[in-house]
Amino acid sequence: MSKGRNAIITGSTSGIGLGIAESFAAAGMNVMLNGFGDAGEIEATRAGLADSHGVKVGYHGADMTKPEEIADMVAKTAADFGQVDVVVNNAGIQNVAPIEEFPAEKWDAIIAINLSSAFHTIRLTLADMKAREWGRIINIASAHGLVASPYKSAYVAAKHGILGLTKTIALEAAEHGVTVNAICPGYVLTPLVAAQIPDTAKARGITEDEVKRDVLLAAQPTKQFVTTEQLGGLAVFLCSDAAASITGTALPVDGGWTAQ
Ligand code: NAD
Repeated sequence: MSKGRNAIITGSTSGIGLGIAESFAAAGMNVMLNGFGDAGEIEATRAGLADSHGVKVGYHGADMTKPEEIADMVAKTAADFGQVDVVVNNAGIQNVAPIEEFPAEKWDAIIAINLSSAFHTIRLTLADMKAREWGRIINIASAHGLVASPYKSAYVAAKHGILGLTKTIALEAAEHGVTVNAICPGYVLTPLVAAQIPDTAKARGITEDEVKRDVLLAAQPTKQFVTTEQLGGLAVFLCSDAAASITGTALPVDGGWTAQ
C-alpha cells in the first residue's frame, strides 16, 4: 500500500513534480514539497493539498545544488513525518547551446541539480529504507536519458547519468525491499514549455497549434503532450506493492518518441 507513506519530491513547486505531489496526496501519501517560487503561492499549494486530501504536506526550500541543504531537508522530513519511505528526484533545469558556447557554470548547475542532487537524496535515505525493508526511489529522467538531441549536452549527459545511477542503486537495494526506477517523459506541457509557445509562433510566423504539433511534438508520434497526471499515476503505481518486482528500469512515457 502507498497510503500513509512519506515522500520527498524535489522540484515540486511546479510542473511534473507538483503533478506527482497531487497524485501522491490523492493516494493518501504525505508529501514534503521542495523547489523555488513565490512564498505565498507555495504556502497556498501546500495548504490546499493537505486540506483537499487529509494528508500531511510540508515544504522545504533546499537548493538542490547544495548538499548541506539537501541533508537538512531529509532530516526535517524524517523529523516531521517520522520517516522517509519514498524519494522522487525530479528537480531539473535546462540550457540549450552548442558545446563551443555552452557556459561552464550552466554545465555545473545542470549536473548538480539534474544528477548530483539524486546522489545526495539517495545516499541520505537508502540506509533507513533498507533497514525497514521497504522503500521507493523514483528518478525523473527524460526521453533524453535514452536518446540525444543537439545543443543539450549537459541535460542529455545528466539524464543518461541518472539512468546509470538508477540501475546501480537498484542492484545495491534489490534484496532489501527497495525499488529504484527512472521515468523517462517525452514533452510535457509544464509552465516552462507553455511559456515558449507564443514567442515561437511569432518568430516563425505560424499558429500556436502549429508550434505544438510541428515544432515541440515533431518527435512525439502521438502528437499529444504527456500529462502530469499520467506521470503521477505511474509514480503512484511504482509505490504500490504490485510494482515490487519492477526495479532498475527506465520507463518511457513519451508517446512513442523513443520507439523510432
Ligand atoms: P519546471 O520548471 O516546471 O519545474 C522544475 C522544478 O524544479 C521547480 O519546482 C523548480 O523550483 C525546481 N528547481 C529548479 N532548480 C532548483 C534547485 N536548484 N533546487 C531546488 N529546486 C529547484 O520543470 P518540469 O518541466 O516540471 O521538469 C521537472 C523534471 O522533469 C526535470 O527533471 C525535467 O528535466 C524533467 N522532464 C521534463 C520534461 C518536460 O517536457 N517538461 C520532459 C522530460 C523530463
